[in-house]
Amino acid sequence: MKTTEIIYQLAVQGVQKLVPYQPGKPIEELERELGLTDIVKLASNENPLGPSPKAMQAVKDVMSELARYPDGNGFKLKRALADKFDVDTRQITLGNGSNEILELVARTFLTPSDEVIFSQHAFAVYPIVTQAVGATARVVPAHDYGHDLEAMRQAVNSKTRLIFIANPNNPTGTLLKANELENFIGALPESCICVLDEAYYEFIDSNDRADSIGWLNRYPNLLITRTFSKAYGLAGVRIGYSFSSPEMADLLNRVRQPFNNNMLALAAAEAALADTEHLQRTIEVNDAGMRQLTAGFRQLGLEWIPSSGNFISVHLKRSGESVYQDLLARGVIARPIGVYQMPEHLRISIGTQTENQRFLDALTEVLTDV
Ligand SMILES: *Cc1c(COP(=O)(O)O)cnc(C)c1O
Repeated sequence: MKTTEIIYQLAVQGVQKLVPYQPGKPIEELERELGLTDIVKLASNENPLGPSPKAMQAVKDVMSELARYPDGNGFKLKRALADKFDVDTRQITLGNGSNEILELVARTFLTPSDEVIFSQHAFAVYPIVTQAVGATARVVPAHDYGHDLEAMRQAVNSKTRLIFIANPNNPTGTLLKANELENFIGALPESCICVLDEAYYEFIDSNDRADSIGWLNRYPNLLITRTFSKAYGLAGVRIGYSFSSPEMADLLNRVRQPFNNNMLALAAAEAALADTEHLQRTIEVNDAGMRQLTAGFRQLGLEWIPSSGNFISVHLKRSGESVYQDLLARGVIARPIGVYQMPEHLRISIGTQTENQRFLDALTEVLTDV
């Protein structure tokens, strides 16, 4: 068994210290462990309505083609995204989930002598992609759980090559003001890439949405990532995308695997994008669920962080991990966020009215249990 010892020492420095990403607990796993059925999972910010029926039909329609390689350029999906968002197809990069694009950016732009800035309580994939390529993370303390842009700006130095900003942020749901965000991006040195992660863009109140795509003409160092995993209900097929300058897209395209987006995902995403009705219903269910959960929290005397996403983090004033375990025993999967330095919070994805009620009932039981 000597090899197991040495194998860790063979890994590059950054990887030796990496802590793997912890996903939300799968429903099947809890079924296996506790022999429960009728489990409610509100742990991974998935769409409680499921995928668009049109996306499901599109997947069926391409099944007979599965022996063929997919279109490695994603021509049709890029065309549809370009039309919808009024960009040039050369500004689009498709990823195996937007997480892949975050990784492509790191591999394209970072060396071990570079520094990367992101906020405390920001999305857990940023430190992973940073460390995996041996770059150094500069984590800037949050302000009221959100990004402190002034402090982040002050953290920029000659080594800063990349900045990650999630807007809204996960797991806090905090949203930056459009003008403050643009001022921040505009003040960055040209040598510093800004990744604006808009995984929850569709859930932002239309009055609060930034015209981030409009900024691309002015800032060639800006990259905006979005995904089909959340509002579009396609987390299972893994597809996300980014908008950037054509030059940045060209570079990412050199690094990516030739067929990083599979045929089912490409077909599903194109159909989902066209199903504006399903998206609208998704947003309405989310808004109603947000009101339902916050009303429940108020009744329980709990405070929460106002969220612009499809999830909300509530302050339990006790161990989030232990409440998480007690909820599991009642068939409800939430997300403890101790790894985000929020040990007394629990993050809950907004579900259907019935799922939200199951969660609130279980939480009430757990918190009033002596
Ligand atoms: C969920 C999420 C993503 C991406 O998920 P993919 O499924 O890889 O597209 C990216 N950023 C944030 C902040 C997220 O919460």
